[in-house]
Amino acid sequence: MSKISKIGFIGVGNMGNPMAGHLVKAGFDVTVYDIRPEMVRAFVTQHGGTPAGSLVEVAEGADAVITMLPDDKVVRKVVLGEGSENCVAAGLAQGSVVIDMSTSNPTGTRGLAEALQPRGIAGVDAPVMGGVVFARDATLDIMVGGDKEVVARCRPLFEAMGRSIIHCGGVGTAHALKALANYVNACALINAIEAMAIGKKFGLDARLMAEALIPMCAGRNHPIEKKVIPHILTRKYGTGMAMGFIAKDLKIAMETAKSIGAFAPLGERVSELWSDAVEKLGFDLDQTQIVRYWEEANGVSLTEER
Ligand code: NAD
Repeated sequence: MSKISKIGFIGVGNMGNPMAGHLVKAGFDVTVYDIRPEMVRAFVTQHGGTPAGSLVEVAEGADAVITMLPDDKVVRKVVLGEGSENCVAAGLAQGSVVIDMSTSNPTGTRGLAEALQPRGIAGVDAPVMGGVVFARDATLDIMVGGDKEVVARCRPLFEAMGRSIIHCGGVGTAHALKALANYVNACALINAIEAMAIGKKFGLDARLMAEALIPMCAGRNHPIEKKVIPHILTRKYGTGMAMGFIAKDLKIAMETAKSIGAFAPLGERVSELWSDAVEKLGFDLDQTQIVRYWEEANGVSLTEER
């Protein structure tokens, strides 16, 4: 089992930039590519590494190519080309690995791995839990799906970027778990926002409610502690995760449920609400701005009064 030392990294945006930076710091030979050349230039200035001018170039000679892109459709196009010669598969040799760390649809991930297999290229899904701050601190929780031996070969890469690595099972299982984890998180956030908007309308104080809900009924509650209190009450809206990405992840979770005939009425409604909010407010707004959807409907504000 050969060691992975040369890595091609595609998509050096909010998450990809710090993640690939940690690979450079850990001593891997990293080449980066992004459809926006200014992102590649910014990366090389900040972290070092080698810039690539095309998808073939970023893949050539690489033991592994990592993608950190918007979704599985973009990943598929970048990896297989779908009519274009300029793609990752055209540059990769047999025995190499494509690791998709984006939040992708698990069915699409399985399809991609099947398409790569006849070329002797392995597919691994390794989505991450934790936002930009976790990416910067190399404390991401990384879920991994794929063949046991291939995953073991990739482990040193994950160790450079994350604090925990969970091998979930075969290809696609990690992407399924990631979408479901984001469903739990997104549902809990709007659950708290809705309760607090009703409470505010009734005359309760926003901070009092947030602080009371945790010990009284919610237990440790990540969305209230890490999103409502520091980003909503203060109007900072700075978690670094776009609202549109949450809507995308919810769609993936519900498509996955549908594909296996699972009963998911709550998830369907949560997904509809997030998609509607994105349509009304905008894809790129911070996820915590979803509060405006409830504030506008209820004629209240959860801004902390100081
Ligand atoms: P981003 O938009 O900041 O970065 C994506 C990068 O991909 C951009 O630099 C863009 O130019 C590049 N790109 C787009 N299409 C491309 C193409 N065809 N070829 C090459 N490069 C291309 O997004 P992000 O916040 O870094 O998120 C990336 C992925 O990580 C998404 O799947 C998202 O759901 C997931 N994610 C994000 C967070 C977060 O907090 N931001 C947390 C966990 C997971």
